[in-house]
Amino acid sequence: MEKLISLAKRRGFFFQSSEIYGGIQGIWDFGPLGVTLRNNIKRAWWRAMVELRDDVVGIDAGIIMNAQTWVASGHVENFTDPLIECKKCHQRFRADQVTDPRHVTDGGEWTEPRQFNLMFKTFAGPVEGSSSQVYLRPETAQGIFVNFINVLNSTRLRPPFGIAQIGKAFRNEITPGNSIFRLREFEQMELEFFVPPAEEMKWLDYWKNERFRFYLGLGVRENKLRLRQHRPDELAHYASGAFDVEYEFPFGWSELEGIAARGNFDLTAHQKASGKDLSYFDDIKRERYLPHVVEPSAGVDRTMLTVLIDAYAEEEVRGEQRVVLRLHPSVAPVQVAILPLSRKEPLTSRARTLAHELRPYFRTEYDDTQSIGKRYRRQDEIGTPYAVTIDFETENDQAATLRSRDDMTQIRVPLEGLRQALEERFR
Ligand code: ATP
Repeated sequence: MEKLISLAKRRGFFFQSSEIYGGIQGIWDFGPLGVTLRNNIKRAWWRAMVELRDDVVGIDAGIIMNAQTWVASGHVENFTDPLIECKKCHQRFRADQVTDPRHVTDGGEWTEPRQFNLMFKTFAGPVEGSSSQVYLRPETAQGIFVNFINVLNSTRLRPPFGIAQIGKAFRNEITPGNSIFRLREFEQMELEFFVPPAEEMKWLDYWKNERFRFYLGLGVRENKLRLRQHRPDELAHYASGAFDVEYEFPFGWSELEGIAARGNFDLTAHQKASGKDLSYFDDIKRERYLPHVVEPSAGVDRTMLTVLIDAYAEEEVRGEQRVVLRLHPSVAPVQVAILPLSRKEPLTSRARTLAHELRPYFRTEYDDTQSIGKRYRRQDEIGTPYAVTIDFETENDQAATLRSRDDMTQIRVPLEGLRQALEERFR
């Protein structure tokens, strides 16, 4: 983890937020490579969950919602973690998560646990008071539930169908940590899939498999992934089944995504609190019902951390250490590096032209600094699958060297066929 965090900082994946002021716990900023990696992850999710399906549409709801939403959803009352404080050092912990050995072994000098609500509060409008108090959403899901009728009425979709959303969520976690694993500001990718009540279990089974496959598609190693079914005592009272997709992080198996069958809990709650009819009338079967929901809920940040950890490798090459990120080409921030062997003409202009030609098709980076060996090392470290080197022969043979990150083989490829050669390798 430490090595990855230092690589992330050195190369520009992520930085501690407002670091020059000493940072702020649980918040991270994403650098040039990080934002690209995140966008690639989000794009892959949106493609799989929305664009390639005829039964899912997207929305983008506000981060701040009418505060009644969170009363109805149960978050005001129940979105809490048990907080305990060490009586000696006054550090605070989640009672269900104390792992700090100093505190576990020193005889339990703890305060009684109290329920701490994780929602961030702020005020909407110029008057600060209980009537203007609002919350930063702790999940994107409720923005979907409160729009269920709007989407139903404005599209031709009928259950089973889904509404997807990607967006920021905020939780005032008692103990944020493990770099970007547990954050106070993070991003979720959530689908609420609305189904006829009798089909709920079938769709839970379907989505758990789909979601597991999604991570394989991002290149995550299968032996580091597992689906874990929730025990009955772990389930929320309204849930009839749930699975977590887990990854084996350096700190142990942990949740990457949760897939839950939520019944009609949320729609029932909002219908009751708002007084609005949120039911669906099936005019073929002539029956009215509140759809049941299967919810796959994933984190952008956890996926990013997973993809980075899973790709990280250290190897010895001819007596030298190399660090390589074996990122899948679909998510790699840079797909092709264009490197002139020397900073001399005509190599640099030929390389710049090539970079310009390839840029519409691949995420491309031009680099003419330092020795070629150092530039290869840098590209290995940021996970670039291929590098193209323009050398002194290029003028004569109209060809360049194509170097592969993973096996470090180098082959000569005609410039004319380069785009095709890369496309074949990324397929
Ligand atoms: P935990 O038990 O770890 O606190 P949770 O079960 O409450 O998490 P969910 O409410 O199911 O988490 O959230 C769905 C997904 O959102 C998680 O699988 C995770 O990917 C992401 N997520 C939740 N909380 C955080 C957080 N504090 N930081 C980063 N990602 C988060």
